[in-house]
Amino acid sequence: METTNTHGSKQAKQKYIFVTGGVLSGVGKGITAASIGSVLQAKGEYVSIQKCDPYLNVDAGLLNPAEHGECFVTKDGAETDLDLGHYERFLDIELTQKNASLAGRIMSELIASERAGNLSGKTVQLVPHFTNAIQQKIVEAAEGSDVHIVEIGGTVGDYEGLAFIEAIRELGQKVGRENCLFIHVVYVPFIGTSKEFKTKPAQNALQDLRSFGIFPDAVVVRTETPAPENVARKISLLSGVPQDYIVDMPNVDTVYRIPEIIAKSPLHTLLSKFTGNDTEPELGKWNRLTEAVNASFDKKVTVGLVAKYMENEDTYICVLEALKAAGWTLGVDVDIKWINAEKCGDDDFAAVDALVVPGGFGERGIEGKIAAANYALEHKKPYLGLCLGLQVSVIAAARRSGLTDANSTEFNPTTKHDVVYIMEGQAGKESTGGTLRLGDYLAVLTEGSVAANTYGTTDIIERHRHRYEVNQRFKDDIEKGGLVISGTSPDGKLVEYVEAADHPYFLATQAHPEFRSRPYKAHPMFLGLIKSAL
Ligand code: GLN
Repeated sequence: METTNTHGSKQAKQKYIFVTGGVLSGVGKGITAASIGSVLQAKGEYVSIQKCDPYLNVDAGLLNPAEHGECFVTKDGAETDLDLGHYERFLDIELTQKNASLAGRIMSELIASERAGNLSGKTVQLVPHFTNAIQQKIVEAAEGSDVHIVEIGGTVGDYEGLAFIEAIRELGQKVGRENCLFIHVVYVPFIGTSKEFKTKPAQNALQDLRSFGIFPDAVVVRTETPAPENVARKISLLSGVPQDYIVDMPNVDTVYRIPEIIAKSPLHTLLSKFTGNDTEPELGKWNRLTEAVNASFDKKVTVGLVAKYMENEDTYICVLEALKAAGWTLGVDVDIKWINAEKCGDDDFAAVDALVVPGGFGERGIEGKIAAANYALEHKKPYLGLCLGLQVSVIAAARRSGLTDANSTEFNPTTKHDVVYIMEGQAGKESTGGTLRLGDYLAVLTEGSVAANTYGTTDIIERHRHRYEVNQRFKDDIEKGGLVISGTSPDGKLVEYVEAADHPYFLATQAHPEFRSRPYKAHPMFLGLIKSAL
């Protein structure tokens, strides 16, 4: 069967790459999947990618960021696992809900279908109903690509992941084993006391995978430091996977080097055989990026990130990546200093060249964030406000104008000066995730404003994830406090951008521009901040 892809090329058959994990999760399965995609892209293949998460949540919207890291938002408003952010950064494609398949979502759709009487009185079972539903999600997400990469979250053998493993095994059987590549990512620990790499957990993990009927084509071995050859030999002997395709992947200076490492490894030979595409990958973009990452620049700025999740870098991963990308683009060392929003003061703000207040929900640390915005207004410190970062700047400005109890009703539901509030029509529904404004929205910027000059255009699309809005009833007070509204929704009802007049750089948006920054294509708002901090 010949299918035509949306990008116009013809291919004989849809190809699938399944990336699973063993031993431990969180050792770079997502980065591996994304990097394999980058190499295929660099060979001219049209790649799509999907994360299947076996846990029983419907989306990542309500997951605790301290535990799970940032909630990534797609252009169509899906609230997803942060791996989708890795995928977008590596592949420079905009993903959608189709690319994030959680067990809870698939299951609830299946149950709804059963309730609607669509399953003709059948006993609904994990196999085949749930496994078929998973396969359908995979086939749908693959549509239009040459190669579709599917990462299965967690590790093989987890109770909740079993149906996913069975689903990809069956899919392999249906579409033909030659159209599937199974890559298992395992962790091999180094035991300091005996000074040896231990392959036993990896052997067991591969045995688990085989017991579910999947014989992998390649094994990516994650190690702290480069492993001697006997590690691959041993794993090969005990798993039956050819030694060439047991690929050691030690920690490296930057994750952006992984595409190059894969391209130089036997995995590339495997990918070429699999796709029938011998083209040498064009990795110029990645080479330039890794060079920039490793360069020591003469110029340096310190950016203070006013944050409340201090334990987990993953919570602000897109913001951190966007700041670093701006530095790489401009040839500036960006030193990111974490400022604890719960116990910070002017000294912390004074010690940095620029301030960033990222998104957030809930009251914890809010006064520290307002203080940061206030400090930036008063001392003309470069400031970038992202979502909540805009809201706290509006509160700071309103307080500066004399409305000392100005607040968001998120933090003070009874304040008379609710400069940030829930708009009419949305009130009362705030306990569900459903009232969030999510995904791409258009904003129109004021001609000649800092925002318009920063972007170089006045029509902007950015992704959103918030519930509260600026209350334009207080426009005059906000202006008196030093901020002007420089961008709104096309109908003027929603405030999208504010900025300080007569300030080197004070720009805030209700959106999350960090989601659209790429390591090799920094976002204008972050570039603007670093430039002014210089
Ligand atoms: N908590 C704020 C709101 O819901 C801001 C959300 C955010 O920063 N993403 O509007």
